[in-house]
Amino acid sequence: QDYIANTQRYETMTYNRTGKSGILLSALSIGLWHNFGFIDNIQNGRDILRTAFDLGITHFDLANNYGPPYGSAEENFGTIFKKDFKNYRDELFIATKAGFDMWPGPYGNLGSRKYLISSLDQSLKRMGLDYVDIFYHHRPDPDTPLEETMGALADIVRQGKALYVGISNYQPKETQEAAEILKRSNVPFILHQARYSMLDRWVEDGLLNTLEQNGVGCIAFSPLAQGMLTDKYLKGIPKDSRAAKSLTYLNEETVTSNIEKVQLLDAIAQKRGQKLSQMALAWILRQPQVASVLIGASSSGQLKENVKALDNLSFSEDELKMIEKIVS
Ligand code: NDP
Repeated sequence: QDYIANTQRYETMTYNRTGKSGILLSALSIGLWHNFGFIDNIQNGRDILRTAFDLGITHFDLANNYGPPYGSAEENFGTIFKKDFKNYRDELFIATKAGFDMWPGPYGNLGSRKYLISSLDQSLKRMGLDYVDIFYHHRPDPDTPLEETMGALADIVRQGKALYVGISNYQPKETQEAAEILKRSNVPFILHQARYSMLDRWVEDGLLNTLEQNGVGCIAFSPLAQGMLTDKYLKGIPKDSRAAKSLTYLNEETVTSNIEKVQLLDAIAQKRGQKLSQMALAWILRQPQVASVLIGASSSGQLKENVKALDNLSFSEDELKMIEKIVS
């Protein structure tokens, strides 16, 4: 069935500027790390992406190794893109990345020029795109000179394969160094993608300031702590949840060790007349450096619930203090 996007899609979403760039991102973005691999149901993925775009979400986030198997999220995305989004290409801001293990041998991982350039070429083929809007180095590589990695990003932009570049999981000092190299090369470095949630606040310790000083925006990934900051686990661990599947570092133990905090936070959310997921997203969006919260969803229903976070983004001093007491 042909997809025609909701004509009102831009009326309710909020758009934030990323750093000092020309790019506005939807306050919520959708990531394809889970639920888009060959192990998943592509019709469900398609429904999630259509719902996202209908709600005004313009930013889709991928990486070379999302799946499983590696590469399959990009391939499934390519299939969905061709069917549903081809006519909307210029309304979308599409990301991919390289930096984690992708293919065997010394050239399929980390931060060499060899890896980054060939990986992006592969990604573009899988997605059926001529270029991505932003290409990220996915994690720092302690053994490759930063000049080489950033030089590869610069050439990728010059070749027209990405319009902007970003980095992910870099500490403040490395971020500063990267920003200086990219600035010298006139490369539009506009986003740092970092894990940030009520349960993981490392970015507050220097990174957000470094980004602000360099005019770079932050996009916060796993803002729901992979689902822990929702009502999903309040009554145990559902069989079809990410924690039960143990596909990644979210497992039953992590959930159990955080559940007390989650229950306390849920009580505050209820008093605000909000779902915990919505409060968790609003709490991150209050940071001026954060342009967007990058969420995942295993159903379009979750996505709809999460977008309603925008209905109440403000916090009273009291609420902030209570939250601080729980999460600090
Ligand atoms: P979230 O913290 O948003 O977790 C998403 C998961 O939480 C969902 O898949 C779902 O899990 C559950 N969930 C979401 N909404 C609800 C709801 N309303 N009610 C109940 N459960 C809900 O983000 P992710 O960890 O998925 O990360 C988001 C994106 O960030 C990724 O797709 C990827 O693009 C990016 N990312 C980047 C990384 C990097 O190194 N740069 C690392 C990790 C992520 P369930 O399956 O249990 O229903």
